[in-house]
Amino acid sequence: MAKISEKLNEAFNNQIKEELESAYIYLGMAEWFQEKSLDNLATWFEMQAKEEFEHAMKFKDHIIERGGHVHYYALAEQKQDWESIMEILEATYKHEKYITSKIVELHELVKELKEYSSNQLIMWFLAEQVEEEDNASTLIDKFKGYRNDFNFDHHIKREE
Ligand code: MG
Repeated sequence: MAKISEKLNEAFNNQIKEELESAYIYLGMAEWFQEKSLDNLATWFEMQAKEEFEHAMKFKDHIIERGGHVHYYALAEQKQDWESIMEILEATYKHEKYITSKIVELHELVKELKEYSSNQLIMWFLAEQVEEEDNASTLIDKFKGYRNDFNFDHHIKREE
């Protein structure tokens, strides 16, 4: 296996930042829910934040396995002043679609650079993004059926 190229290493370091910023976004959302005693939604978003951290670690481990160097960039402050549950759910869905577009870019870069040793990692993330987008849009669909914040919260349970 060839050592990871500088270009792909850099792109993966940038993706680590994207994943950690995703965690930061979801932590802010979890806090908004927790303040309003919407505890199941708070838990859902906290678990989502932990998943994003795991995504970042997956890229980190892969870079090291391929003989590269990990650099943690500064994280940007994220929006925390939400108006409603629906605004949060729609922002989540939009954000996951954005992350999918970033993974697709990585997929194209891997092909362009012929870095086939990173193919499997990217395939895993492409499949993961199908799930992430589905989770986000499912929350929106469910919420449309409730229209009462506490009823909705009561029906949100998340499995590990
Ligand atoms: Mg992610």
